[in-house]
Amino acid sequence: MNDLKKNNFLFNNISFLNGIGPKLSRYLKKKKIEKINDLLMSLPYTFVDRSESVKLDKLEIGKILTLKIKVKKYNFPRIRNLPNTIKCEDENGEIDIVYFNSREGYLRKIFPINNWVIVSGKINYFRNKYQMTNPDYVSTLENISKIKKEIPKYSLTEGINEKKYLNILQRVIDQLIELNEWHNKNLIKKLKFKSWKNSIVEIHKSSSQRNIDSIYYRRLAFDEIISHLVVLSNNRKKIKKIKKKPKRFDLSLSNKVLKTINFTLTNDQDKTLKEINNDLKSSNRMFRVLQGDVGSGKTIVSFLACANVIESNFQAALMAPTEILAKQHFNLAKKIFINTKINIQFISGKSEYKEKKVIIEKLAKGEIDFIIGTHSLFQKKINFKSLGIVVIDEQHKFGVKQRLDFAKKGGDESDVLVMSATPIPRTMMLAIYGDMDVSKITEKPNLRKDILTLSKPEEKINELWPYINKELKKGNQIFWVCPLIDESQYLNYTSAIKRFKEITKKFKNQTGLLHGSMDKSEKEKVLNDFLNKKINILVSTTVIEVGIDFPNANLIIIENSNKFGLAQLHQLRGRVGRGIKKGVCILLYKGSLTKNAIKRIKILKSSNDGFFISEEDMKLRGFGDVLGYQQSGIKNFKIADPVKHKDLFEIANDEMKRLYEKKESLDKYNFLLKLFDRAEIVGDLND
Ligand code: ADP
Ligand code: MG
Repeated sequence: MNDLKKNNFLFNNISFLNGIGPKLSRYLKKKKIEKINDLLMSLPYTFVDRSESVKLDKLEIGKILTLKIKVKKYNFPRIRNLPNTIKCEDENGEIDIVYFNSREGYLRKIFPINNWVIVSGKINYFRNKYQMTNPDYVSTLENISKIKKEIPKYSLTEGINEKKYLNILQRVIDQLIELNEWHNKNLIKKLKFKSWKNSIVEIHKSSSQRNIDSIYYRRLAFDEIISHLVVLSNNRKKIKKIKKKPKRFDLSLSNKVLKTINFTLTNDQDKTLKEINNDLKSSNRMFRVLQGDVGSGKTIVSFLACANVIESNFQAALMAPTEILAKQHFNLAKKIFINTKINIQFISGKSEYKEKKVIIEKLAKGEIDFIIGTHSLFQKKINFKSLGIVVIDEQHKFGVKQRLDFAKKGGDESDVLVMSATPIPRTMMLAIYGDMDVSKITEKPNLRKDILTLSKPEEKINELWPYINKELKKGNQIFWVCPLIDESQYLNYTSAIKRFKEITKKFKNQTGLLHGSMDKSEKEKVLNDFLNKKINILVSTTVIEVGIDFPNANLIIIENSNKFGLAQLHQLRGRVGRGIKKGVCILLYKGSLTKNAIKRIKILKSSNDGFFISEEDMKLRGFGDVLGYQQSGIKNFKIADPVKHKDLFEIANDEMKRLYEKKESLDKYNFLLKLFDRAEIVGDLND
């Protein structure tokens, strides 16, 4: 029998276990426990130490305590719904042990009058008396060792008590069997790991084993990381499996484009473009992510890649997440391809029906070389004659599956280039883009000066007005960012609407308001007004688009800046200083700053390196919070922590590489995929 079969019961529904009926199943489902395995994967959130007993004058309400008490007197009322009570005492005080719905005979047996017993449970207080209601444990003095020292606590819903839950879990644990080790022996030795079974059992036993740094916990974290990387690896194989026609070009088109732009490429732009070109020329499909800080010049690199594809007689498609960003790319493309004959078109959800129809026809006939647009590029009815590359800009919110869908849509000849919005910490890179090759731009164009970052308490806001006035007179533009749209009675943050009204009074006819509840066309109008300098101060929430170039904006003021994460602040300030003027960012803060906030401001003031900042952000805030990766469609990690288990991510990545090079099958991880609910994704990918 193979391992999967041997432990297959783990993947049965929990109702498979004796004693779990439909009602209990429903309760457990609320806690996302459906399969037997989910029980094992729901780790205790804490442990209660019951090893020490306390005297009755040291009771604390609400605490779980263990007591050694003498049974004094029963009070068993014959009235329904009234609880049975057992009066107990020690040298220092008294307590009532209270039972609802329990039989007298049973209570008389476990609480013999005048005998000492041990009870353990939560202390409450009722009618001037300490009570313990339905103790978790009752035992004679001789049997004290039967009360486990450390009791794991699980977050339970109503309808299931701790004892029952622990009992079910124990039965599952009792049925576990040792499996053949799936990891490489040397790895196990190096990392001091124990078997999977041993690890999962220990982790439920005590707080030190449950600790995120214990070898048991780390083993399971490693398992989870590997299961994730196996998914990515499958994705990659799927893309790379298809052979394509190598693209042939001699850079004549891209050189023409380069002549129309008034700068030379940075070394990193050059390097990454070469990496991309090599992929284009290869018979393996490109599946590459281009990473770079805000303003590092990714767009031009992607345009030059598109030029090479077009020179090879293929079409190119570039997708941006929003209409306005797509439009800006389109305008830029028209400008820099001006001396060429290529046909560039724009499409979005808002394009006129007639216009769209023509574009769709021309794309199918191959009469359009370069199409730039929004998500609507990927509608079913759009077909290309010969699409050679798909470029996806600022796409970090897409998941593994979506990425594969884009690749599929492109067809077999299409290379895939993804541009990440901002730098991503290395572990996150492995977790999110582990299936892709990576090109990295670390250096910024020369003329891009570092953004000067200052901080100011909000009380001194009045000092800003003359400064803003001066900037406006110089023809500069200003972003003003607030965390909230409208006033909230609960949160002490400044709202965009309120601030907008205030600033509009001071600077008439120069202000605009932008926030997430405005409809799309309203938003676009304001952004366009700002781009065209009809307005010069844009008060907004954090919706100001990533990636849009506002060359005249050189000042950004961020209110309640301590509310934002590091990477987000860095991204926001990256909105300014994109032209030739030096950018300035002023971080306003309310009240006193927390230690963390002080640290954040210090990091921002001292560094303009997005890669460094994203790493720091992850250290401070953890994985999920950084730039909303929680919504990236990447399955959340249940056990592994990309910050605390950074080393394991690296080791797992190396291991996957090793297996790939040795062409070893990944089938040995099938059990793992099921354990971590990833088998289905792999199945989906293989459709
Ligand atoms: P991002 O990497 O954030 O997408 P962009 O591609 O939008 O950055 O580039 C930001 C700005 O820098 C654009 O105005 C672009 O024209 C300019 N730029 C790009 N490359 C260079 C370069 N090598 N030298 C000078 N300016 C450049
Ligand atoms: Mg960009």
